[in-house]
Amino acid sequence: MMFSTRILDRKLGVVAGDAEQWRALEDELEVFCAAITADPVDERDEDAATREYVRRLAAAGLLRHVVPAAYGGASPQLRTTALCLVRQWLARRSGALDSAFVMQGLGSYAVTLGGDEALRAQLLPRVVAGEVICAFALTEPEAGSDVAAMTTTATPGPDGGVVLDGEKCFISNAPIAGSYVVFAREAAGTVDAAQAGGKPRYGAFWVPGDAPGLSVDPIHVIAPHPIGTVKFRGVVVPAAHRLGKFGDGLKLAFSTLDVFRISVGGAALGLADRALEETVTHLKRRVQFGKPLATQQGLRFLVAEVATEHVAAQMLVYRAAGARDRGDAAPEDSAVAKLFATEVAQRVIDRAVQSLGGLGVTVGQATERLYREIRALRIYEGTSEIQKLVIARALFDGG
Ligand SMILES: Cc1cc2nc3c(=O)[nH]c(=O)nc-3n(C[C@H](O)[C@H](O)[C@H](O)COP(=O)(O)OP(=O)(O)OC[C@H]3O[C@@H](n4cnc5c(N)ncnc54)[C@H](O)[C@@H]3O)c2cc1C
Repeated sequence: MMFSTRILDRKLGVVAGDAEQWRALEDELEVFCAAITADPVDERDEDAATREYVRRLAAAGLLRHVVPAAYGGASPQLRTTALCLVRQWLARRSGALDSAFVMQGLGSYAVTLGGDEALRAQLLPRVVAGEVICAFALTEPEAGSDVAAMTTTATPGPDGGVVLDGEKCFISNAPIAGSYVVFAREAAGTVDAAQAGGKPRYGAFWVPGDAPGLSVDPIHVIAPHPIGTVKFRGVVVPAAHRLGKFGDGLKLAFSTLDVFRISVGGAALGLADRALEETVTHLKRRVQFGKPLATQQGLRFLVAEVATEHVAAQMLVYRAAGARDRGDAAPEDSAVAKLFATEVAQRVIDRAVQSLGGLGVTVGQATERLYREIRALRIYEGTSEIQKLVIARALFDGG
C-alpha cells in the first residue's frame, strides 16, 4: 500500500543495512506512538511537554539512537537511517515530540565526536537516560546563515581553559537545557591564533546549563518548541571541556549538521505522512454537490501530484541516510534531501489545509498544527537557500 504507516512496507529499496533491524525499530515506534496517542501530552506548556517527552523517550529506550553503543547507545556509531525512521514516526504524532528526541542528539553529537573520554562517559549515558536535556548553540543575532560571522569569543582562561562572552539566539531547548555545546571565535593574539596566520578560528565547548554567567531569555515561535536567547558573560570553561582541538569548532558544527540535516528531512516526511492521511480521509468522507469530494478528478489529481513528490522525498532522504551510514555521503546529499523533503512537506501540508476547507485552519485540527509545525524546518539547520548554495557549490566549484 502506498501510504502504509510502515515506512519499510513502502518498499523504498534504499534503506541501508539489514531490513530486520529496521522492522524491529518500526515495531518499537508503532507501540511508542500508540501509547502517546492513548495518553497525550498537553503541549500548551512547551517546557513541561518537552521534559515529559524526553522522559517517555528515555523510558522507551528510543534515546539509544542518539549516542554510540559505548555510552549506552544502540549501535557503535549513530545511524542516520535510524534517526530518520524515528523522526518520521515521531513527527507524525507531534513536532514537539520529534524535537524533544532530536535535540538530545544534535546537542550532544559534538561531544560524541570531540569530547574527551571523561566528558563523554559523564554526559552521554545521562543523555540516553533523559537525565539531562541538550542544546546546540551556534546561531547569533548577527550570524545566522553566515555562521563564520559569529562574535561570541573564547579568550584564554585559567589552567588552559577559556572564558566565553557573547550571545546566541534561537537556541532550541535553551529554557530547559542542562547541557550546551557552544561555538565561539577563538581570541586573536593567542599563540594558537597566531599560528592560524591571522585567519579567524572557532572553537567548540561543552557548558553545563547552570554555569555561572550563563542566562536564558525564552522566545516563542509559532509551534510548541522551547527556545531562547542565551547570554554568556564571563563563563569559565575548563580545558577538559574543549571539544576537539583549537580551531576545530566549525568542523564539529558542520559534521553535526551533515548528519542531523538529513534527519530534518525525516521529520518533514512524518509531517507530510500525517497531512496526506488527513487529506485522503477527509476527501473520502466529505460530501459536496451530492457526492464525496474524493470523486472529483480535480482534487484527486492535486493529491496524486503531492503524493508523488512525497514518495520522491522519501527516496532522497533514505538514500542520503544510507550513503552516510555506509560512509560515502557528500555534503550535497544531505542538502538535497533536506531541501526537497522540507519544501515538499510544506506543499503536501498546504494541500491538506486546502482540502479541508475552513476546517483546515480551525484551531485544534491536525492540519492547523501541521501548518505551524512544518514552517521552521525550511529555516533551521540551514535554510532552503543555504542548501541550494551547498548544492551549487558542488556543481560549480567541485564541492
Ligand atoms: C524553530 C527554530 C529552531 C532553531 N534552533 C536552533 C538551535 O537549536 N541552535 C542554533 O544554533 N540555531 C537554531 N536556529 C537558528 C537557525 O539555524 C537560523 O534561524 C537559520 O540558520 C537562519 O539564520 P537567520 O534566522 O539569521 O536568517 P538569515 O541568515 O538572516 O537569513 C534570512 C534570509 O536570507 C536568506 N539568505 C541568507 N544568506 C543568503 C545567501 N547567501 N543567498 C541567498 N539567500 C540567503 C536565508 O535563506 C533567509 O531566507 C533555530 C531556528 C528556528 C526558527
